[in-house]
Amino acid sequence: MATSVAEIESRNGLEAAAGGEDVHVRVAIVGSGFTGLAMVHALRKAGTEDFLVLERSAGVGGVWRSNTYPGIACDVPSHLYSLSFAPNPDWERTFSSGGQIWDYEEQVARDLRMAERTWFGEALVDARWDAARAHWRLRTTTRQLTAQFVVDGSGVLAEPKLPAIEGIERFKGALFHSARWNHDEDLAGKRVAVIGTGASAIQIVPAIQPQVAHMTVFQRTPGWVIPRNDRDITDAERRALRRFPVLQKLIRGWQWAYRDAVLLQVMHRPAWRRFFEAVSKAYMRATIDDPALRAKLTPDFEIGCKRILITSAWYPALNQPNVDVETTPIAEVREHAVVTADGVEHPVDAIVCATGFHVTDPPAGEIFHGRDGRSLAETWGASPRAYRGVTTANFPNLFRIGSIGTGTGHFSHIAQIESAITYVMDALRVADARGLAAVEVSEDAQEQYARRLHAMVKDTVWAIGGCSSWYLDASGEPSAVWPGSGWMYRRWTRSFDVEAYAVTPRALVAAPAPAPMAGSVR
Ligand code: NAP
Repeated sequence: MATSVAEIESRNGLEAAAGGEDVHVRVAIVGSGFTGLAMVHALRKAGTEDFLVLERSAGVGGVWRSNTYPGIACDVPSHLYSLSFAPNPDWERTFSSGGQIWDYEEQVARDLRMAERTWFGEALVDARWDAARAHWRLRTTTRQLTAQFVVDGSGVLAEPKLPAIEGIERFKGALFHSARWNHDEDLAGKRVAVIGTGASAIQIVPAIQPQVAHMTVFQRTPGWVIPRNDRDITDAERRALRRFPVLQKLIRGWQWAYRDAVLLQVMHRPAWRRFFEAVSKAYMRATIDDPALRAKLTPDFEIGCKRILITSAWYPALNQPNVDVETTPIAEVREHAVVTADGVEHPVDAIVCATGFHVTDPPAGEIFHGRDGRSLAETWGASPRAYRGVTTANFPNLFRIGSIGTGTGHFSHIAQIESAITYVMDALRVADARGLAAVEVSEDAQEQYARRLHAMVKDTVWAIGGCSSWYLDASGEPSAVWPGSGWMYRRWTRSFDVEAYAVTPRALVAAPAPAPMAGSVR
């Protein structure tokens, strides 16, 4: 049984030199964030060691490794925002900081001996389906390999989107995206522009406001805000959680049920939205004294249409005398200033772009080329599709996790990832049991699934709430989101429905890839 990268590389008696293609694995996993961690755990539990993780960074952690901006935290409660197989009784706060989540991921990775099976610093740059051998040919930054199956966990909020603003490249001060924070730039005493008012900006602004000389927050669209009930988890509570692990399960179950039972209703039912809008407005009245500022911060779309901003620090920070909220659109950036459409020049020393991510147009769209040679992006067109949020017609043996059609806006993305992985593991089991070299979802099944999702999503606030958001694709469809409950997605991904797939038996492949190294997936 191969137990390390070195052993995988030399298992055919060949040392895989950089650039060679001697490495073949049953499963290549892209990314070592929560998907990578959960996938490695699932494969190990199933008794297979025939896999390799490709990670573009120098370490594990995904978005929680790359997002290190001041104030970073998670707005999903800690016990729910954890892997089911790695409960953590030692969470320090009810809502964890980004650093604590990254530490947790690193601990899980150590427990899984992830480093033994990971190529760090190797970004996947090209992936092509080889129909003759029924496997994927993968090219990373400096190497090549083949894999029968690819599990893409490259993430949905992983590729920063910089704003296309006239002249921004001429700016002479510090300029960076929230997800690529430049810690070498000391913002203390500086005049700082923050562009954007989404979930990242509302954490950054309160964290840096006390140090900066002046901050201008450039707001294009205000968000709905609900206060966050964050507090320390006491030593006594942690002791109890360690002693009685069932307590942690109960807390997690309650947090899951609340989100499924209550918050999901907000997405589907206008009356619930009116209620939460009233709560949000009352909170704003209690926190923001200046009526002019209140007017600027009042959204003109329904709550839930964009991700609800869960924070108790944002409004108090905007009240501070060194902060201005500018709602006139940005016209251009000059060497030392941001200029708004009214001609006013706002002199700044640094610009932080908290401007979001490429969600429905991810880099994976250009990287993966399917059975007919077309890329994912070409196959998708304006509206990406993923059957059960996992597979795409024309892309055999490719499982993309936690991406198209799985976002919830209210729920733990980790739970969604774990549901999808159950489906993938069952697909591997079925492929093994039936001697299949390849499985590819049929166009028909994919289309029917898309129609079913459309029927579920068309009356949700994401579709009719009167806003634009990263949930929407280029055609205006909220294809990034899953419109049901977390439980429903779990049910829909409980087992692999092979009847929705075109299958290729190993016997029909002229030169099949080597048989799995470490036995079948059980
Ligand atoms: P985002 O929600 O996409 O927000 C981007 C912000 O930038 C929006 O306010 C947007 O305005 C603004 N913007 C974009 N381009 C602009 C331009 N050219 N000029 C002016 N403003 C511009 O991105 P994000 O805040 O990074 O959050 C993305 C997602 O990450 C969240 O929805 C959430 O799922 C996740 N996240 C989660 C947490 C957490 O606590 N779990 C924390 C941070 C992020 P418009 O609204 O007008 O487009």
